[in-house]
Amino acid sequence: MLLYGKPVAESIISRLGKVAGLNLAIVQVGNNPESSIYVNKKIKMAESIGASVRHILLPQGCAQDELLRVVTGLGSDSSVNGVIVQFPLPPQMDTDAITHAINPLKDVDGFHPDNVGRLFSGRPRFIPATPKGILHLLKHYQIPISGKNAVIIGRSNLVGKPLSALLLNENATVTICHSKTKNLSEHTLRADILVSATGSPNLVTADMVKDGAAVIDVGINRVDGKVMGDCDFEGISKKASISPVPGGVGPITVATLMENLVYAAKLRG
Ligand code: NAD
Repeated sequence: MLLYGKPVAESIISRLGKVAGLNLAIVQVGNNPESSIYVNKKIKMAESIGASVRHILLPQGCAQDELLRVVTGLGSDSSVNGVIVQFPLPPQMDTDAITHAINPLKDVDGFHPDNVGRLFSGRPRFIPATPKGILHLLKHYQIPISGKNAVIIGRSNLVGKPLSALLLNENATVTICHSKTKNLSEHTLRADILVSATGSPNLVTADMVKDGAAVIDVGINRVDGKVMGDCDFEGISKKASISPVPGGVGPITVATLMENLVYAAKLRG
């Protein structure tokens, strides 16, 4: 089975319906073209559900104190429901300090330590969009999670770690692999659910995958002008379910972010 993201994203957005009166603030520092693509996708999707977006573009050379002032101001501005600081930030910025400054009740990206702690203690509030989207994908295609072996390759704060908590909360037996893991295939061959989030093209080949497993390819790699994931799609799709790249996890991520925005508004009543 091919695990396409578009129908999952559409069902999330149609569940949300139109939600007038929501206000999302997106803070971007500098004009990194990749960041601008993502910011534009978020603006378009937010407007499509009826939310208004305040896009604050600060110069690349902006001082950290200035960014902190903007982020703190948005945190106390009662007309703003959700705040996103687009990463990566320029090198003069301390990303942790900025993340800590976001009001945790408006932290639709789910990166504030309060929200990370809540997720890991099994009482989630905001869940980062990519791992939450992966959970939506698994549920949409009715892939069983409880009691299954889930193996995640990649331990980032953005994908691997929060996904491990989510799948654990869903009663999977979770293994996290990373760049120092020995004998990767010994782990991956046990996976009923295998998630690769590394940014290493062709890392996962068909001989590393159990027959009938569900493989979620989160990687986005540009190779010879083409976008591809971490997995050998051709080989793996002959023996397992797999999400394509592009067209798998990617489209779900922004939809899940909108779900978090609507939740932010409900949180504050
Ligand atoms: P990251 O660089 O922060 O983390 C990569 C992780 O992969 C690290 O934990 C590292 O230990 C592990 N890793 C790297 N090479 C490895 C190897 N050869 N064997 C085993 N482990 C290895 O990256 P990230 O932010 O988690 O993103 C991972 C990938 O997912 C990237 O390609 C990124 O573009 C993509 N991504 C996609 C979406 C989406 O919406 N589709 C969202 C976020 C990230």
